[in-house]
Amino acid sequence: MQNDLVDQLRIGTGFDVHPFCEGRPLMIGGLQIPHSHGLLGHSDADVLIHAIVDSILGALGLGDIGQYFPPGDPRWKDASSSKFLEHTRNLAKERGARILSIDSTLIMEAPKMSPYYSSIRENLCRILDLPRDRLHLKATTTEKLGFLGRSEGIAAQAVCLLCIGRDKTTG
Ligand code: MG
Repeated sequence: MQNDLVDQLRIGTGFDVHPFCEGRPLMIGGLQIPHSHGLLGHSDADVLIHAIVDSILGALGLGDIGQYFPPGDPRWKDASSSKFLEHTRNLAKERGARILSIDSTLIMEAPKMSPYYSSIRENLCRILDLPRDRLHLKATTTEKLGFLGRSEGIAAQAVCLLCIGRDKTTG
């Protein structure tokens, strides 16, 4: 029944910010992006993956990224955020949930991201086991306003639509 399907849809949002720093690689969407600065954080500070992870966790009703990968935990020091995404994908699969669509936006003045959209989407879709047309990525600026406009860091936001698994008690 169509109503059953609608009842199984869940939506989640994610948002994250990391400040620029010197001496670290800039990781976005699991790829190293050539730039004068990287992002500061306990893990590799992949702001895009963090926002996507939070959007999936939100849609699953499972809290936020800090509960699974606490910033003080030495296991996650300089960790690849791709591991966070893999873990989140597994949480969804264990619950029989299927990610239907993810849309994401990077908010930054520089570097220019459009040359990397395709590679980033390919990488994220590989990790999430998604067809390419299910994950979208874009970028915008704040027209030089605020901390993002002063190039002090990068923000990312994401939204995830997924279909939760059927309630086993009702078959
Ligand atoms: Mg973060």
